[in-house]
Amino acid sequence: MARIVMKFGGTSMAGTERIRRVAGIVRRQQEAGHEVAVVVSAMSGETDRLVNFCREANALYDPAEYDVVVASGEQVTSGLLALTLQSIGAKARSWLGWQLPIRTDDAHAKARIESIDTDEILASMARGEIAVIPGFQGLTADNRITTLGRGGSDTSAVAVAAALKADRCDIYTDVDGVYTTDPRIVAKARKLKNVTYEEMLELASVGSKVLQTRSVSLAMKEKVRVQVLSSFIDENAPAADTLPGTMIVSDEELEGLDMERQLITGIAADKNDAKVILTAVPDRPGAVSSIFGPLAEANINVDMIIQNVGRADTDTDVTFTVPAADLDRTVAVLEENRETIRYEKLSTDPKVAKISVVGVGMRSHAGVAAMMFKALADRGINIQAISTSEIKVSVLIDSDETELAVRLLHTAYGLDG
Ligand code: ASP
Ligand code: MG
Repeated sequence: MARIVMKFGGTSMAGTERIRRVAGIVRRQQEAGHEVAVVVSAMSGETDRLVNFCREANALYDPAEYDVVVASGEQVTSGLLALTLQSIGAKARSWLGWQLPIRTDDAHAKARIESIDTDEILASMARGEIAVIPGFQGLTADNRITTLGRGGSDTSAVAVAAALKADRCDIYTDVDGVYTTDPRIVAKARKLKNVTYEEMLELASVGSKVLQTRSVSLAMKEKVRVQVLSSFIDENAPAADTLPGTMIVSDEELEGLDMERQLITGIAADKNDAKVILTAVPDRPGAVSSIFGPLAEANINVDMIIQNVGRADTDTDVTFTVPAADLDRTVAVLEENRETIRYEKLSTDPKVAKISVVGVGMRSHAGVAAMMFKALADRGINIQAISTSEIKVSVLIDSDETELAVRLLHTAYGLDG
């Protein structure tokens, strides 16, 4: 017998018909002899609808009241799943965040879980009940409702799994696993059997939106085994132990699991950045700090940075990327600080894409970046910026070339199925 936390996302919970399918999957898992707790999202589209109500009610809404409103989507699906489980003869009951409670800090609309009282869930499971818990919601020390930030149910599920010391956290979603790249771009993309926490973090942060990034860091920290699976499976499919999803594992576990692995695990594309170029910034100590200090104060996240070699020891160009959504604010901050930065010209380009190749294999192999640069050069794709981490190489290119770049790199690294 294992203890398993099962999480179902918004598309899996969208309507009573789909909830019935979910109830069947949960029931089978319990009948396979496991202790089961379920974490659910609101029906897809529901949280957006609730957020809009808040905006309409008061454009400058109080985040604490916003949380009261948006947390309700998960309350509805928790109750509905418990009802549906009961209708097929399973013992089930729901536990809202405040009833357990799931304690968070008081950063409304983006709260962090601090602790989960598991007494009630454990007692419930011991009675043979399926405990249904709404994702996304929690309670502050002074008993106000909080939510965890959009996509936060993944984090709730991992936190519940950690608190229950569950053997596994199965995340059921509308895709059947993590792929080598977006299958809509590359038809030959393959589903990965295993991916490490760090790879998943890098892939999640560069635009592969299977799991909320925060849930992956939490799983890594708490050593929760996470499996990504599709909830759109056959009525008579076996319980999840034998289903082919993607398992997120530690480096050590991976070594024993997957000897045949390619050097690169996945390729991600992200079109949400914009490029900023400052020309002829004085080449002197403090110049770069005069640019990035004010941006940091404005809470703007800078990603890739290049500083060119100075010209005649007097000045230099600085290129960097920021989230496209922050581009207008970035320009405003730089113009405000023009006197101190003393650049000659400011130009921007929102038409860029960041392409990243990710894989723990590059820790022990040289030449990964060189192969990327050559593959792109052979097809005439110009690289505008580069950044690297221990397990990732990213390049910035013209966004029109995104699909071509992803496809040719997928082939170059031997990932085509
Ligand atoms: N319902 C919330 C959202 O849409 C949380 C989640 O589904 O993970 O962001
Ligand atoms: Mg989600």
